[in-house]
Amino acid sequence: MDIEVIKVPEGQRKPISKDDLSLGFGRLFTDHMFTMKYAPDKGWHDARIEPHHALELDPACMVLHYSQEAFEGLKAYHGPDGGVYLFRHMMNLQRLNRSCRRLVIPELPLDFVSDALKQLVLVDKEWIPHTEGCSLYIRPNVIATDPYLGVRPSDTYLFYIIMSPVAAYYPEGFNPVKIWVSDDYVRAAFGGVGEAKTGGNYAAGLKAQTEAKKSGFTQVLWLDAKERKYIEEVGTMNIFFIFDDELVTSPLTGSILPGVTRDSVLKIGKHWGMTVNERMISIDEVMEGAKSGRLKECFGSGTAAIISPVKAIKYKDELVTVGNGGTGPIAQKLYDHILGLQLGKVADPFDWVVRLDA
Ligand SMILES: *Cc1c(COP(=O)(O)O)cnc(C)c1O
Repeated sequence: MDIEVIKVPEGQRKPISKDDLSLGFGRLFTDHMFTMKYAPDKGWHDARIEPHHALELDPACMVLHYSQEAFEGLKAYHGPDGGVYLFRHMMNLQRLNRSCRRLVIPELPLDFVSDALKQLVLVDKEWIPHTEGCSLYIRPNVIATDPYLGVRPSDTYLFYIIMSPVAAYYPEGFNPVKIWVSDDYVRAAFGGVGEAKTGGNYAAGLKAQTEAKKSGFTQVLWLDAKERKYIEEVGTMNIFFIFDDELVTSPLTGSILPGVTRDSVLKIGKHWGMTVNERMISIDEVMEGAKSGRLKECFGSGTAAIISPVKAIKYKDELVTVGNGGTGPIAQKLYDHILGLQLGKVADPFDWVVRLDA
């Protein structure tokens, strides 16, 4: 399949802000997008790089009613050598196909999508911020497009990729967050769609997120749906704890999103010779660990922030401080190392980084 390329004429392109730090997250979009359609008789077809534009959808379009969709989030970076880099992007695309299988969406041809993604990034490469820590956020999305109100998998789909230049999450250094443990609401139950990156999971979390914000907390820490006892993840990040010398995160039991950053933290931790475990972590272990001093650090991991240190945790009526309430040395070292890898600045023993314009 060929990709038809329709570019925005030079004189009609949007101005690119030079003030990278005021970009925020996901508010501004580049000049171009990639689109591709699916129909049962044609398979994936009509692949195009074209001007970023509003979609025309029938109001009966199935994704708008029943949320049959899956998405991804990854980034492109400008290295100090002027190169354009992607980090583990095939892992994101493989996860997209796993989400598609769970949502009964036809799988995407991954090598083709990988080439399309690289081509799109290069078409809009002027949009990749140069300030360290800033990047181009890439959002692939696949949606059900049959105009039909019955509940069944759609026959037709639209896949697209849009891109947004984003600021560093913590432009002035880390700002450790306070998190709120939800014991009223759950994010995902065993057998549900928690391990798929699909819209319904996020709609389901908004109520708890809003209540947490109202009480002065940045994120919600989710417990398992059955016992309301074991840690799952935090907001839209996976979560890590350091108990004495052990680096731990929750196992992928089916209700947790398998993060690319989570996997990177686990592999780097092992590579550094740390004791690394994926095991069940109860909220009691966390609260007691914070009080006894056994809990040295806690941080979230995800593409947007990379590492997000946690300074305090509220569960029921108790508020505990993690470590000394600042950013722990391991959180800092992991952040520096992962960002260094993404920018092509540190040695990459895992072959995680691709340079696009080499
Ligand atoms: C995307 C996401 C993550 C983090 O995944 P990364 O691949 O590291 O960005 C974790 N939890 C949820 C719920 C997510 O949506």
